[in-house]
Amino acid sequence: MNSHQADDLATFMAGVERRNPGEPEFLQAVHEVAMDIIPYIADKPIFQELKILERMTEPDRIVSFRVVWEDDRGEIRVNRGFRIQQNNAIGPYKGGIRFHPSVNQSVLKFLAFEQVFKNSLTGLPMGGGKGGADFNPKEKSEREIMRFCQAFMTELYKHIGPDTDVPAGDIGVGAREVGYMFGQYKRIVGRFEGVLTGKALEFGGSRIRSEATGYGAVYMMEEMLAHHQETIEGRICVVSGSGNVATYCAEKLIGMGGKVVTMSDSSGFIYDPEGLTHDKLQWIMELKSKRRGRIEEYVREFGGTYHEGERPWGVPCDLAFPCATQNEITADDARTLIDNGCRGLSEGANMPTTPEAIRVIQASKTLLHAPGKAANAGGVSVSGLEMSQNSLRLQWTRAEVDQHLRRIIRGVHDQCVEFGTAADGHIDYFKGANIAGFNKVAAAMIAYGVM
Ligand code: NDP
Repeated sequence: MNSHQADDLATFMAGVERRNPGEPEFLQAVHEVAMDIIPYIADKPIFQELKILERMTEPDRIVSFRVVWEDDRGEIRVNRGFRIQQNNAIGPYKGGIRFHPSVNQSVLKFLAFEQVFKNSLTGLPMGGGKGGADFNPKEKSEREIMRFCQAFMTELYKHIGPDTDVPAGDIGVGAREVGYMFGQYKRIVGRFEGVLTGKALEFGGSRIRSEATGYGAVYMMEEMLAHHQETIEGRICVVSGSGNVATYCAEKLIGMGGKVVTMSDSSGFIYDPEGLTHDKLQWIMELKSKRRGRIEEYVREFGGTYHEGERPWGVPCDLAFPCATQNEITADDARTLIDNGCRGLSEGANMPTTPEAIRVIQASKTLLHAPGKAANAGGVSVSGLEMSQNSLRLQWTRAEVDQHLRRIIRGVHDQCVEFGTAADGHIDYFKGANIAGFNKVAAAMIAYGVM
């Protein structure tokens, strides 16, 4: 970036900061994109004249609403729900719903903004959105979760529809919560339509939707390595998280001959030098989804060590898969990964790497690093395929969906290479994903005129 472009970036970010005070996560996500897009559009006056990037950073609308529900003791509880409809230039708004106490407008705006680029990269006709509530599903009974989901949908249904906005799951929202929300939507509107993805197979879900994000993060790693004639087989893999994305990422890695030695939750991580097996992983899936237990219980069952309050990035590895939450890899963690000879980092989570950590990795040029908007695009891709199947009134086989998923991730990888390869041959996957995602949305916005 030359000094003129650096000035443009500073001016642009000053405007975004003025309009979005107190929203650090959103500003972080916009800055990461603007750093690549501003130099890219420097010699393309149409994008500047039409203020495309400025328009993309302003959500189409933000819906915020009260969610009132009754807990098991008869006490009235009040939460705040949101739906951010960021951009529908290339298709209906599409993006997950997150239930977590840390949810606020800034977090959801960062996720909705990232989603626009991610969905564009998949090649499917999907715009970007995100939603959620500051509801903590932990230690809630089944009935409390059901009542919360119903109360949430009683307001959300006014703003969504199969051709307007199609939400899915995210942290704290899995097939069970999607079932409760879909049931409530159907009850209110009186129609059975594909308004949510991540549904169970019995009522319009797609095969491989649960697995898709984790599998996709591994397929992305496979593509990056294949580009350098390398493979996953025999590589030591460090995974964070133990939820939906992390467990299916680990499952696919084990299936491809990788050795997964860590998993984590918000309390700490386990290290199993022997490596996880399918049986051990099955035990973790039951621990987390059925018993709602803590990852530390793993060492009592299978041995290894538990590290309270720590993240797994200090464990020497070849491949790293952050699959828990945002900003979980700091600059120090990035240096440790590089010093330990880590070769690849595929972001299952959204924005898990801090800006400082990204700079450290970019400077090293030794670590293949796929951003979340490319590496975790598998989830929304199969959501898009679920929408297609709902429209067709068909359900594809596992092999058919997996074939589409692999093809889509290969396409995502190839676009990153096309737009992210420097003169010296180094591939900046962040730059490639940002520019490729931007181009398609920008072209549609230009076609629509000024609005
Ligand atoms: P889950 O709720 O299934 O699992 C989240 C995991 O991350 C849990 O192990 C949880 O631990 C841990 N975690 C959550 N918050 C924190 C935190 N603040 N610090 C440390 N660990 C934390 O969510 P998903 O697996 O669905 O989502 C994980 C990531 O992947 C998120 O960034 C999400 O946005 C992203 N993603 C998910 C997609 C999907 O299809 N589900 C699609 C694309 C991206 P604990 O059990 O203690 O809560």
